[in-house]
Amino acid sequence: MDFDLSEEHKIFQNTAAQFAQKEIAPLGAEYDEKEEYPRWIFKRAGELGFLGIPYPEKYGGTGPDTIALCIFVEEASRADAGIGAGLVVQNTVGTSPLYSFGSEEIKQKYLVPAIKGDFVGCFCLTEPNVGSDVSSVETMAKEDGDRYILNGSKLFVSNGLMADYAIVAARTEKDKGHKGVTLFLMETNSAGLTRRGLKKLGIRAQDIAEFVFEDCQVPKNSILGEKGQGFYHLMATVQKTRIVVGSASVGLARAAFEAALRYAKERNQFGQPIGKFQAIQFKLADMAMEIELASLMTYKAAWLNDKGEKCIKEASMAKLYASEMVNRVAYNALQIHGGYGYMREYPMERYFRDARIMEIFEGTSEIQRVIIARQLGL
Ligand SMILES: Cc1cc2nc3c(=O)[nH]c(=O)nc-3n(C[C@H](O)[C@H](O)[C@H](O)COP(=O)(O)OP(=O)(O)OC[C@H]3O[C@@H](n4cnc5c(N)ncnc54)[C@H](O)[C@@H]3O)c2cc1C
Repeated sequence: MDFDLSEEHKIFQNTAAQFAQKEIAPLGAEYDEKEEYPRWIFKRAGELGFLGIPYPEKYGGTGPDTIALCIFVEEASRADAGIGAGLVVQNTVGTSPLYSFGSEEIKQKYLVPAIKGDFVGCFCLTEPNVGSDVSSVETMAKEDGDRYILNGSKLFVSNGLMADYAIVAARTEKDKGHKGVTLFLMETNSAGLTRRGLKKLGIRAQDIAEFVFEDCQVPKNSILGEKGQGFYHLMATVQKTRIVVGSASVGLARAAFEAALRYAKERNQFGQPIGKFQAIQFKLADMAMEIELASLMTYKAAWLNDKGEKCIKEASMAKLYASEMVNRVAYNALQIHGGYGYMREYPMERYFRDARIMEIFEGTSEIQRVIIARQLGL
């Protein structure tokens, strides 16, 4: 096995890092403070081909290439995890059901503009009573002639306020568990849909919303894939998204580590740089090692995914390890900064807040352990 990136991937990494450092990094602190997303980043990322990495050229994409997607996400999250999170959704759950299950007409009407950054998409699965147990969806979609009528609500919808369209999981058959869930595509200006923004601890630039459906009508031809197969359709996409959250964690961890390493060389106490103290050196050594390990795990899972191999265990391991790793790294990087790390004038406290979400979305750490144990035959 070759442990290095290919020449093409290295060139791509360079381009992605330049874009992220020049166009995303300078916005991080300001948009975190404003709790607002710089929507034009979608257009800019689209122009440069950063929104079509999982899709073929036929639709304006540059892929499919999971390794390249991981490279981009790592660099975007290293620049700012909140802005990066918006771009992750657009490259994964906000578009992948359109590509995998949408008709050619749907692909042309929604996927192509999303890849260009003209449309923003979102994905609505979580509900007030539905979290880790995704098969228990309560939002109802009732058949009525040539349409469905949706009633219910969705929580924590990433990109929700900005979104032009939404991919919604709703129940088309009562009492059928995961067999009664269907995916719908709808425009967010549909009558009967109201949206409300939510406030959060970290990744504050990222836009997040609650959706309420009250007799919201969608035409029958807006079903993505097969009726009643929504749960299985979703499961087919989670493998890749989990790997990508691993990469987002690695990117954010690199940002925190790089800041801590710089600081350890610059900050003097007791007549010498604090980096000369073994207590600080050991922290940095452990951080560097853990980042390297998480990076190898995410790229291995991405490599397997690109080969078309089943890698449920590897994807969950990468997501689990990387998301817990970034929390340890952010904690220690803040410790190395002492009191300055705790102040909002410096980026460390933002990295520390931003790290927390990595263990929650796309399946919590507990759920990843459940999946890994199942893959071990338990
Ligand atoms: C910032 C953010 C963005 C998000 N974006 C989206 C989005 O775009 N679209 C979307 O649909 N959702 C989104 N989510 C929702 C996210 O995926 C869920 O929050 C997550 O899956 C956990 O669900 P829950 O919050 O309801 O927690 P719960 O499922 O209620 O879990 C509560 C606790 O119980 C534990 N637990 C649950 N079941 C088990 C079990 N079987 N074994 C052991 N422990 C268990 C969990 O690990 C957790 O610690 C987002 C959430 C956040 C915070």
